[in-house]
Amino acid sequence: MLWLGAHMSISGGVDKAIDHAVSVESDAVQVFTKNQRQWNAKPLSDEDAERFRTRYAEAGLKGVVAHDSYLINLASPKDDLWDKSIAAFKDELERCERLGIPFLVTHPGSHTGSGREAGLDRIVTALEQVHSDLPGYTVRTLLETTAGQGTNLGSTFEDLAYLLENTAASERLGVCFDTCHVFVAGYDIRTPETYESTMSEFDRIVGLTQIEALHFNDAKEELGSKKDRHHLIGQGCIGSEGFRNFMNDSRFDGKPALLETDKGDDLAEDRAALALLRSLVS
Ligand code: ZN
Ligand code: MN
Ligand code: MN
Repeated sequence: MLWLGAHMSISGGVDKAIDHAVSVESDAVQVFTKNQRQWNAKPLSDEDAERFRTRYAEAGLKGVVAHDSYLINLASPKDDLWDKSIAAFKDELERCERLGIPFLVTHPGSHTGSGREAGLDRIVTALEQVHSDLPGYTVRTLLETTAGQGTNLGSTFEDLAYLLENTAASERLGVCFDTCHVFVAGYDIRTPETYESTMSEFDRIVGLTQIEALHFNDAKEELGSKKDRHHLIGQGCIGSEGFRNFMNDSRFDGKPALLETDKGDDLAEDRAALALLRSLVS
């Protein structure tokens, strides 16, 4: 069984996300550890870190992952933005380490015109610098599968394999598999047959054991559209049957699967989606 949950707000403190996760009866949660639209954040206090760790332990959740800021671009060909991204990414990892969060999900990056290979090599160099600057960290970076909009890297399984194969200390890396992104990038997952063919392709090129977390989002746009617009589970172009494939795949037992879909303050949409997903287990 996957550990189901959702991305939750940290408004009022990182530990508040755990209260939200508990309130929808989920097993896992994803958080930002700071405002994701700003470069700078006030440092995490020891009290904040301790409160989060305690709350997480007492809540009985089985999985937690963090997502990094959308501003970070480890593939940038511009030195100032690249340096700033590396510094911000190191801060994100340090926050995870202190909060006891074992995985940090990141979008690999955007080459903004320099080309695929140059962009991927830039990410490799950035990750290697991060690894050597922060020795001994236990938090792992999960490279997220992306939709392939514009010059974004990571929308093909080959891109992810390149990063995993070429980065030193690659045991500090893994993959976060986003269902909406993979689908709009052109990999079908809607039927048992197309699902199995996509998964065996992923296994051959990247390795299914690299997947440490999943993002469960339905897609507002069609297969291959490369448009990243999330929809509620069962209401988009993937549909419930696509998610049935994941829910019954024992290869993902014990991995967190997080919703990143629209919801109101009462979290009713999350509750409904989690119930729907659980009903698909046979
Ligand atoms: Zn993401
Ligand atoms: Mn995602
Ligand atoms: Mn997305």
